[in-house]
Amino acid sequence: MSTRPEAAADAWAMGEALDEAALALATGDVPVGAVVLGPDGTVVGRGHNVREAAADPAGHAEVVALRAAAAALGRWRLDDCTLVVTLEPCLMCAGATVLARVPRLVLGAWDPKAGACGSQWDVVRDRRLNHRVEVVGGVRAAESSELLLRFFETRRQEPGEGAQGL
Ligand SMILES: [Zn+2]
Repeated sequence: MSTRPEAAADAWAMGEALDEAALALATGDVPVGAVVLGPDGTVVGRGHNVREAAADPAGHAEVVALRAAAAALGRWRLDDCTLVVTLEPCLMCAGATVLARVPRLVLGAWDPKAGACGSQWDVVRDRRLNHRVEVVGGVRAAESSELLLRFFETRRQEPGEGAQGL
């Protein structure tokens, strides 16, 4: 573990995102949570996966949190913010991060199957786009993975329900 003050701030923010992730469990949503930190390092937007709760295919934690942050700040351009999310963003959320001009992304667990920030794709650092994002990965990854593993294990025990990823 690094002792940089930035690392401590990232770990704290990931705790906020993990708290958000746990809220998704109440509606049977995959437990992924996100927060957006404003320029002063405080939380300006938060969200968790609401795909089931809102019957919204785009209801991923990152999109919810980015929209909340943009609404709070009164602007779509979040070029002084940090997105903190418990799981590596998918293609849609990586795209939304680029479109919001977020300069820094802190993620918990990597998603080898669907991750678009270094695993399957690397949308946020694609040279063809005019915006690139600094990625800090693996922050409190074990806690994020544990939450997801427990969720999918519980699901597998329910008859007639297969495990379903993002
Ligand atoms: Zn997503």
